[in-house]
Amino acid sequence: MKAHDGLYIDGAWRPATGRDVIEVVNPADEQVIGRVPAGDALDVDTAARAARAALAAWAATPPAERAARLTALRDVLVARKDEIAETVTAELGSPPQFSQAVHASVPIAVAGSYAELAATHSFEEKVGNSTVLHEPVGVVGAITPWNYPLHQIVAKVAPALAAGCTVVLKPAEDTPLTAQLFAEAVHEAGVPAGVFNLVTGLGPVAGQALAEHPDVDLVSFTGSTAVGRRIGAVAGAAVKKVALELGGKSANVILPGADLAKAVGVGVANVMSNSGQTCSAWTRMLVHRDQYDEAVELAAAAAAKYGDRIGPVVNAKQQARVLGYIEKGVAEGARLVAGGPESPREQGYFVSPTVLADVTPEMTIAQEEIFGPVLSLLRYEDEEDALRIANGTVYGLAGAVWAGEESEAVAFARRMDTGQVDINGGRFNPLAPFGGYKQSGVGRELGSHGLAEYLQTKSLQF
Ligand code: NAP
Ligand code: MG
Repeated sequence: MKAHDGLYIDGAWRPATGRDVIEVVNPADEQVIGRVPAGDALDVDTAARAARAALAAWAATPPAERAARLTALRDVLVARKDEIAETVTAELGSPPQFSQAVHASVPIAVAGSYAELAATHSFEEKVGNSTVLHEPVGVVGAITPWNYPLHQIVAKVAPALAAGCTVVLKPAEDTPLTAQLFAEAVHEAGVPAGVFNLVTGLGPVAGQALAEHPDVDLVSFTGSTAVGRRIGAVAGAAVKKVALELGGKSANVILPGADLAKAVGVGVANVMSNSGQTCSAWTRMLVHRDQYDEAVELAAAAAAKYGDRIGPVVNAKQQARVLGYIEKGVAEGARLVAGGPESPREQGYFVSPTVLADVTPEMTIAQEEIFGPVLSLLRYEDEEDALRIANGTVYGLAGAVWAGEESEAVAFARRMDTGQVDINGGRFNPLAPFGGYKQSGVGRELGSHGLAEYLQTKSLQF
């Protein structure tokens, strides 16, 4: 795999100050596929200064010109789609077809949506005797995870650029090659020097330095709740704006009138895709007691069918973590009906598609985010019970409701404490706001709500 030995700062690839490197590993065969610099606090400082220096000119660039750069960026992502998909497959382990259909495609849609929003958003409005200006928040420090490596970068950088902000990105150490490709694309798209900067590096070093940097006005983070909490504290102490997209433990609620086979089939696919490494995955399936045994059989069969088609999880630590959760589930009384805590292959960080039945709401596996291909099936007595279980975690990122009548599903969804709900298998919408209730986060991404995160208002009275 192609890897740059520098950091992309102020429009060029420059050597890092230190000599530390990150070895990038293919999780499917455990081979080192590239090395990138591990930037330190000095590198972050250089990048943040470049972003600060570029801010005034970029913020003053007419929105139509910012839209043109985003359109060009989208076009580069289209032209380099195969290369992007291959890179995600190599460093994340995602099966090639999923890399094409999701990892390389969704960012194209999102970049395109922000090219359009930059051109159409009115950055000025009238409120009574005031003119309200929507101005960029400033320099953005973006910290992203590895599970949707390009999507999570584009979901921050595209709205930031559309708003007129400049950016320093610290991507996940497991997937820096995709981030380097993105930096190349930004460069090719003709985005001015300093507007976007990339510092590859480790979370507690480069990530921490970025969150703390005085030149950063907004920290936008996606990742674990544990790290999100620390970033929120750092940002709070410095009175910086902060956006946190954190974990989830979403419920897939199957009401008695629903098409059970479809709801279970789609539900299993939702959890197994990307090897379960999706923050919004519906990892708890809630089924009425009269249909429970049938649902367990359907889910076990659907998971078994996945078998070899599933990719590995991202690294050895995640594999150990996920297998540990499966063991813990069994130890706490859950019944294994598919998969299990043994690694299915000698090489690579694989986890079998796993289904656990007889899971009760207080079990660890029903409360904590596992981030692997593991589905828990819970039994409910009636709708009130289902609602209590669905809302009974610290998280509130996503969810699904299936019912015979759409209106019945909607009525249930209105009572869920969560940021988005798919009704009877609704499709992903890249323009709908995405983000969490409760400990799943602060702020929203995507569409016009995502753009608003990168803007602040100034009111002029007449
Ligand atoms: P993580 O540590 O929260 O990583 C997310 C990002 O934050 C990475 O770029 C990481 O850098 C960086 N980071 C880590 N420590 C930091 C610090 N002290 N200051 C600033 N930045 C820091 O997540 P993870 O370790 O990759 O995964 C652990 C668990 O988090 C998963 O099992 C899953 O439950 C959850 N997770 C959730 C999402 C989501 O989309 N909500 C995504 C990924 C993971 P490094 O890459 O160097 O660690
Ligand atoms: Mg980490």
